Amino acid sequence: MHITMVKKRLLGGEPCKKCVDAEELLKARGLWSQIHEVVWAIEGDAESAGMKLAAQYKVDLAPFFIVRAEGAEPRVYTSTLQFIKQELSAGAAPIAVSAAGPLSPEEITQLALDLDKAPPERSIKWLLERFGRDVAIAFSGAEDVALIDIAVKSGAPFSVFTLDTGRLHPETYRFIEKVRSHYGISIEMMSPQAEPLQSFVEKKGLFSFYNDGHNECCGIRKLEPLRRALAKQRAWITGQRRDQSPTRTDVAVLQLDTHQGLSGPLAKLNPLAAWSLQKVWSYIRANDVPYNELHDQGFISIGCEPCTRVPRPGEHERAGRWWWEESTKRECGLHV
Ligand code: SF4
Repeated sequence: MHITMVKKRLLGGEPCKKCVDAEELLKARGLWSQIHEVVWAIEGDAESAGMKLAAQYKVDLAPFFIVRAEGAEPRVYTSTLQFIKQELSAGAAPIAVSAAGPLSPEEITQLALDLDKAPPERSIKWLLERFGRDVAIAFSGAEDVALIDIAVKSGAPFSVFTLDTGRLHPETYRFIEKVRSHYGISIEMMSPQAEPLQSFVEKKGLFSFYNDGHNECCGIRKLEPLRRALAKQRAWITGQRRDQSPTRTDVAVLQLDTHQGLSGPLAKLNPLAAWSLQKVWSYIRANDVPYNELHDQGFISIGCEPCTRVPRPGEHERAGRWWWEESTKRECGLHV
């Protein structure tokens, strides 16, 4: 077997950050010696060896790995995690995780691998024990209520917030209240700041997103309140799943989040990443978890009322969100 790692050198001469991180991870896990050659793709130089390989294998991301073995088609990986898992995991050494303080990028990457197949009960318990009270669940008012059920059963302290955009369905507000009383927990309602919201609505009205996209409205009603909610935390938990949409197929169980928390970038746990929608609903039914009555009307992914509809037969579950926009743009920016 022969492994080539293609790294990218930027116009300024420095290697791309992701390439540096990938190399550090491989070294930290004792796997670097298994890379037989490193080939550079020089930005702006189509004749550089790495650029030629990128063109040959139709890859537009760096780093990437080419694994050649006798009698087999070359295998190409643009995800370092997948590459390690598929090709090298047998020889990987565990990384020691520091007992306190923020997780380093290497620890995050290693733990993401370790937790990938872990049941959500285990990964949530681990995060709550690791970060104590400085962990919040972002509750959307939909089937991610399963996260709250699991966290409550862990017995560890945690907090919950939801983004009260002011445009949620009445059913969702009723459901939030139901969850609050069912579990006896507080749910912090994060509202948009009054002044920017007021001037936005005065200038553009209440439905501008149908004309010029959802980003501006989501920025005011969701992203800014999210930033405020996360500024008080060291880690957060979301209900993102890989099977939700074409934009989420790569979601890792654990990620380093660029939002600034109490002590810098946060750890972001997506414990349901590997679960299917059916599995989430099996959990909800088996554990008698309360759910949003909109699901009984055919809604699957639930957001703001004007921007959510019941998916048509055969459509993906998030096809009912911002359905008038192109599918690759149907994220509100919370998970960047
Ligand atoms: S989902 Fe729609 S209503 Fe809600 S914040 Fe985004 S654009 Fe505004």
